[in-house]
Amino acid sequence: MENLVTATAVPPQLPLDYTAEVAERTAPVYRRLKSVIPEIEWPIHAPYIAEIQRMKEERGAIVLAHNYQTPEIFHGVADLTGDSLALARQAMETDADVIVLCGVHFMAETAKILNPEKTVLIPDPKAGCSLASSITAADVRLLRERYPGVPVVTYVNTSAEVKAETDVCCTSANAVEVVESLGAERVIFLPDEYLGHHVASRTDVELILWQGHCEVHERFSGSEIRSYREGHPGVVVLAHPECPQDVLAEADYVGSTSGMIGYVGERKPARVVMITECSMSDNVAVEHPDVEFVRPCSLCPHMKRITLPKILKSLQTLEHAVEVSPAVATRARRAVERMLEIGRGTGG
Ligand code: SF4
Repeated sequence: MENLVTATAVPPQLPLDYTAEVAERTAPVYRRLKSVIPEIEWPIHAPYIAEIQRMKEERGAIVLAHNYQTPEIFHGVADLTGDSLALARQAMETDADVIVLCGVHFMAETAKILNPEKTVLIPDPKAGCSLASSITAADVRLLRERYPGVPVVTYVNTSAEVKAETDVCCTSANAVEVVESLGAERVIFLPDEYLGHHVASRTDVELILWQGHCEVHERFSGSEIRSYREGHPGVVVLAHPECPQDVLAEADYVGSTSGMIGYVGERKPARVVMITECSMSDNVAVEHPDVEFVRPCSLCPHMKRITLPKILKSLQTLEHAVEVSPAVATRARRAVERMLEIGRGTGG
């Protein structure tokens, strides 16, 4: 199927026009987004949204967007959205010939590992991740030498090469379940130290940890959370487990991005603060206009490399196709599929 898709030569991109037709076609999208995108900005986004929607049909493409993508991407052009676990599952289930992954590089690699016959595109190949770059395959091999026989669980926020050295992957949504599924007394848990501490607090399995951190979540502190409580009485604090332990100790709920979305949808708190990447609050606020969101901002510079013009260019030129060597992909796929099998029907 991949061979059916061919790149077309495109002229250098010029700003697209905000015509009356574009305004009409995108009006329903803007009605949903007007609480988070100022009206003056809409003529910049709308022509790209209209053209991306057209190009997706022409290419037989599907756009997957992580919860940290900006609202004009998340609500404007994405066909499927979610956290890392949900994106991995959706990538495996789609029939589309082309997958455009609006997220960071390890997410696109995971989609490619699960769909070796499909074209998987990332609009900006420099969209990295501080966790993924904190560990290499050679590091994992050294840890295995140091702790012979101890199984290795790695967070999906890792390169394909690291996944290939792993027994099973996990996400923040299913980490405890995955660790316990191994039936081992000790597990090497990589690379997020803070997520590791959180998992360790919820299981009897002894975890050997690595000092990898998410540069977005490690910026938060316990004193900052206390100041939100003082400044916004009654606020419910939801925190991502990539945050330091003093932050998690102050939170009312700790969970993955999907877990936080589920919390807001089910419990409908009057006032909430999500201790995670900034765009999450905007994306969730669109769906819950009755909830007041306190919005501290910690941007992920890697996620923000993905923009509407880059998504359009990616669809036009079929750049940047993600490739993983077959030898690495086969071993990495085993670790990801094992995770999906363990967590089937229970998270994401
Ligand atoms: S938010 Fe953190 S974990 Fe997620 S992509 Fe950015 S740096 Fe990586």
